[in-house]
Amino acid sequence: LNRRLAEFGTTIFAEMSALALRTGSINLGQGFPDADGPEEVREAAVRALRDGRGNQYPPGPGVPELRTAVAAHQERFYGHLGLAYDPDTEVLVTAGATEAIAASLLALLEPGDEVIALEPYYDSYAACIAMAGGRRVPVTLHADPESATYRLDLDELRDAVTDDTRLILLNTPHNPTGTVLTRAELTAIAELAVERNLLVITDEVYEHLVFEGEHLPLASFPGMRDRTVTIGSAGKTFSFTGWKVGWVTAAPELVSAVRSAKQFLTFVSAGPFQYAVAEALALPDDYYTGLRDDLRAKRDILATGLADAGFQVFRPSGTYFITTDIRPLGETDGFAFCRALPERAGVVAIPNAVFYDHKDRGAPYVRFAFCKSVDLLEEAAGRLKRL
Ligand code: PMP
Ligand code: GLN
Repeated sequence: LNRRLAEFGTTIFAEMSALALRTGSINLGQGFPDADGPEEVREAAVRALRDGRGNQYPPGPGVPELRTAVAAHQERFYGHLGLAYDPDTEVLVTAGATEAIAASLLALLEPGDEVIALEPYYDSYAACIAMAGGRRVPVTLHADPESATYRLDLDELRDAVTDDTRLILLNTPHNPTGTVLTRAELTAIAELAVERNLLVITDEVYEHLVFEGEHLPLASFPGMRDRTVTIGSAGKTFSFTGWKVGWVTAAPELVSAVRSAKQFLTFVSAGPFQYAVAEALALPDDYYTGLRDDLRAKRDILATGLADAGFQVFRPSGTYFITTDIRPLGETDGFAFCRALPERAGVVAIPNAVFYDHKDRGAPYVRFAFCKSVDLLEEAAGRLKRL
């Protein structure tokens, strides 16, 4: 393994899911729903397979049906904010958001460029920045025990920008903290990007999973339309994380750059699923609000269970995840705690320290996923209470 990748090892999600299997534990580690997405969307995939749509290499940018559906989705949910994309030149289908992140960084970074990312950050960010030869510059979202939320210090963000900063890699709603950046924060980020002439890659895969407040795409802020690469994913929005269908929306030059990298990573993304996701994106508003309301109720069940078990709960405004502080349980090391938890309680969780460069800042925090059945969440809460 080369020096660029040596520090990354095996992803925490693979490690912890294997541990869950080995110990027969309830897996609240890796974020995937335990119920598949809508039947009609599965049927759409079967139809595409049977009818021979997408069984051979689809077009590089994605099948036109899906690009059109992505553009229509952006217009439907964000048109009132002035956001619209041309399906032919401003949409690119990717193999999940993961490839969108990798291809965007590989396409847009020169070796040595600095990338600012909000810490704790999703694990693939650091590895992809490294593969692209960039240098990551973490800006910490600070845990605020008083309000039980995370806060972005805008002065720290501004101070992190140097002459070598090429781009900001943003994530809202934010994994693992569940933070949804506010209009004021996004306005400040947009002003900074314009002032310092930065690009922004914004990972908005949890755009529909916002329980309080509202998701505002960064691209809709003044001056951002043409300097922002926005990333979405069918995995989260339709509960098909195994299909690996994602997309990028951006100005034509940026999409074309990302496509240059994508064509040598996967060339194209799996065909039949693209047709099915095109149908999924057109589901009525009820579908989207139903998914959100269901997950909000699950968040509340797990949050209550974790608080009853003695954790300090940082209440997430969005995503699949609750971050907790384990210090009220007399624990300080999230890694040790998560490695022991399957034996002690039959539950698997993720130590947030893996998402930090400043490991000490992340040490006492542990993430639990609530995209699971109510029965499973209640069983997990019961087990944790016996800790
Ligand atoms: N970004 C974030 C913040 C995520 O949490 C995930 C996966 N859970 C991804 C990207 C990857 O998405 P995909 O499965 O579509 O590759
Ligand atoms: N994004 C999911 C999570 O944060 C996991 C995806 C993966 O396993 N790479 O849990």
